[in-house]
Amino acid sequence: MSAPLRWVSHAVGAGLGRRYPFVLCYHGVGEVAAADDPSGIFLSGELFARHLDVIADAGYELLTVSDLWRAVDSGPGALARGAISFDDGLVKTMRGAVAMLLDRGVPCSVYVPTGLMGRPHPDVNGELIASPEEIRELAQAGVEIGAHSVDHVALTGLGHDAALEQLRRSRATLEDLLGSPVKAMAYPFGAVDEQTMEVAEEAGYEVACAVSGAGPWRAMCLPREPVHASATPLRLRLKMAGLYGPVYAFVGDHGPLRGGRRRRTPG
Ligand SMILES: [Zn+2]
Repeated sequence: MSAPLRWVSHAVGAGLGRRYPFVLCYHGVGEVAAADDPSGIFLSGELFARHLDVIADAGYELLTVSDLWRAVDSGPGALARGAISFDDGLVKTMRGAVAMLLDRGVPCSVYVPTGLMGRPHPDVNGELIASPEEIRELAQAGVEIGAHSVDHVALTGLGHDAALEQLRRSRATLEDLLGSPVKAMAYPFGAVDEQTMEVAEEAGYEVACAVSGAGPWRAMCLPREPVHASATPLRLRLKMAGLYGPVYAFVGDHGPLRGGRRRRTPG
């Protein structure tokens, strides 16, 4: 189905109350000074809690990304189901938003750049990425842990062998750490093309996440909606319905979509 037709079909279906599956991609949740967060990857814990209320009010059940993909892949079982994912494994996010989800018994998925565990995030001043021990504790608490390369590099800018090394080594590091298979990953910066998808499959992943906004569901290019500080509840509802892209393209930052800060797409 072409993109315009898919959006029209989505809009009609959503208008009729059909609850399509979605995957949200968060990075940072918590208080960080704007000057320390030039890429705008943090949103407040208060806004995140409102997002959870919006999702619950809409009657959605949340799964890990891998479980949601299996539901999507197996047929109509994914309706009224969604997933929340977090890229980069920032400590503040793990201790805030992820802890909030665990308290509520809600599953989620976290994608970690293994070479940066326990070190500062390269794009946010002073914000640490969780240590190996913290990542292991999250897994033991029920969080799905996936890879996010070793060095948090755009894989599309690497040759085949270097990309494969990033994907294999990050997976092996997590499997050693967790003592269980790791089959999921997210592309740093959402950077993905056909060759990168083939490399991800070659590296042994079964699910690989993009940050594409709504789109066709493909195991090696799972569509995720980026969620930033600008995600008002209305914007979130449009993202959940798979309609944010076309609506934003039509009305831009005006009218009902006005509000919040909008910055460049983070990784
Ligand atoms: Zn990232």
